[in-house]
Amino acid sequence: MMKPAGVVRKVDQLGRIVLPKSLRKRYLMNEGDPVEIFVQGDHIILERYRPKCVFCGSMVDVRDFKDRYVCGVCMEGMAELQR
Ligand SMILES: [Zn+2]
Repeated sequence: MMKPAGVVRKVDQLGRIVLPKSLRKRYLMNEGDPVEIFVQGDHIILERYRPKCVFCGSMVDVRDFKDRYVCGVCMEGMAELQR
């Protein structure tokens, strides 16, 4: 359910919007953290970016391998191929 955060901000010349500190704190957004942008109808939704496994889309136990994200289950599956 979407509800207003009680904040109105102006978009600057470069299209940037400052997220209030209270929101950044509440949603654990720190400087340099990746944020993913979603759209839903006429809404723009920001979410902390969580890497997904390139094979199965899982967000659980995801590790970085050669700049790709792979989950533990798929990693296991690949290890089995070696046997
Ligand atoms: Zn996977």
